[in-house]
Amino acid sequence: MRSKAIITSALPYANGEIHLGHIASTYLPADVTTRFLKLKGVEAYYVCATDDFGTPILIQSEKEGKAPSEYVSFWNKRDFDDFTAAGIDFDFFYKTSSPENIQFVQDVFKKLDTAGHIYQKEIIQFYCSNDKKFLPDRYVKGSCPYCNATDQYSDLCESCGRVPEEIVDPKCSICGVTPKKEKITHHFFKLKNFGDSLTIWLDENEHLQKDVKKYVQNWIQSGLIDWDITRDITWGVPIPLDTAKGQVFYGWFDNHLAYISTAIKFLEDKGINGKEFWNSADIYHFIGKDIVYHHYLFLPAMRLGIDSEYKLPDYIPTRGHLTLQGKKISKSRNWYIGLRQFLEYYPADYLRYYLIAINPYSQDDLNFDWNEFTNRINSELIGNVGNFVNRALGFTKKTFDGVIPEPENYDDKDTEAETKIKTLSDELGSLMEQNHLDRGLKKIMEFSTFFNQYFQHKEPWKKGPGTRTCVFLSVNAACSIAIALYPFLPKSAQMIWEQLGFSGKINEKGWAFISNFLLEPNHHLGEISPLFAKVEEEDIEKYKKQLGLSE
Ligand SMILES: [Zn+2]
Ligand SMILES: [Zn+2]
Repeated sequence: MRSKAIITSALPYANGEIHLGHIASTYLPADVTTRFLKLKGVEAYYVCATDDFGTPILIQSEKEGKAPSEYVSFWNKRDFDDFTAAGIDFDFFYKTSSPENIQFVQDVFKKLDTAGHIYQKEIIQFYCSNDKKFLPDRYVKGSCPYCNATDQYSDLCESCGRVPEEIVDPKCSICGVTPKKEKITHHFFKLKNFGDSLTIWLDENEHLQKDVKKYVQNWIQSGLIDWDITRDITWGVPIPLDTAKGQVFYGWFDNHLAYISTAIKFLEDKGINGKEFWNSADIYHFIGKDIVYHHYLFLPAMRLGIDSEYKLPDYIPTRGHLTLQGKKISKSRNWYIGLRQFLEYYPADYLRYYLIAINPYSQDDLNFDWNEFTNRINSELIGNVGNFVNRALGFTKKTFDGVIPEPENYDDKDTEAETKIKTLSDELGSLMEQNHLDRGLKKIMEFSTFFNQYFQHKEPWKKGPGTRTCVFLSVNAACSIAIALYPFLPKSAQMIWEQLGFSGKINEKGWAFISNFLLEPNHHLGEISPLFAKVEEEDIEKYKKQLGLSE
């Protein structure tokens, strides 16, 4: 682990609201990791931006009779507000249509061109004579040439995750007419130049997930295809050549460059040398598995193509998709839960708890299920953690007037409890460093279970010998839980912090304090109240009905 880090997550496309699926695979794991790194004392910054360009946005803004710039600025603000409400705490949230990104993208293109990685070629482009326009990407639908899935956009097969070279049985997505083919000159990025250097990078990077690496290596072995980076639309980063008037870059040429341009903008505004920081930091790009192709091939190849002027990623944590009640999330079929909608039902920490608890560090899909959500929140978050913290603090309040007592001699059980506290920061920290956030959260739950049982076993309410030790260790365990939970459940952690009688922000204390017995004898606790309210079955039935489920 380096002492600096830049964390990014896949850019939200400025074309609709954030839903639970987005949060689960990308933004939440990135936010938890950033908060963890900061507690560890790493100078970490989480930057993100809306992905503003491209055909789908142009199509939609045309439909709504808005200028595309007006359309994306609405979604930029809306996304940022929704993320903030969910406790996703970006250090900087910007946009791919920023002047800084446009300049940066054009500079990168010129460098790639000078280095011989760009060439021009006349291509046959779909043209709809009905709509009188060229039809890039999403303007064309058809069947995937690799897996035969039907009704796929020509720029990405959602079924197999590959980028089709040429879509089969094309149709204009605006009017449904079979488009004609017309000749036009496009610019290509020579991805083929990078087969060897990408293989070396994949081999040498120990932090990338092995299973993802393997199928990317298979793609490379089966032959890379040069990449058409030109689009004949008006909404994009203009290609900075006289011969390319009226043409813009394909969105996947410019959007991941916004990871760099956004970070640089943020850092330079703070008076930090952006490039120097980038190149001495751990670089994390959190993504969902649908954009592996772009992040393991295009992104590193483009950085290699400009002589790694900005270093390649160290981590590309890649996670599976969230399904909803066992079915694929689909906005068009109205099968999704909007983030804003969910946060009207429950606090952000409930969502954060559940979505991390079910979210392994792998490509496996995970499933949002209202019944499981209810069980997990009620029995784990409330029944375990909420119960222990409230019990330990409430007892101290009642029996010792909220003042931490001096511990007495330790018996074996006390020593075991003391050891649990002393080892938690390292054990949990190593899981977090390896991106096993679900296992980290489980570790905190096990810690809390242990202390619930410890408290029960010691029976401090009988006020026999050892009561003071039990109280001293239990409130310190509650303090450990608060700091350990902070990356996952920042609001709840802060509430415990205040109930423990601390002022200020919990994240001002470092990770090591999980194991440092912060609460000394004679410390006064704050006001105690229950941390969480139970999830009620009848509410859940209501939310299920809203989805069209009846039970
Ligand atoms: Zn396919
Ligand atoms: Zn048409």
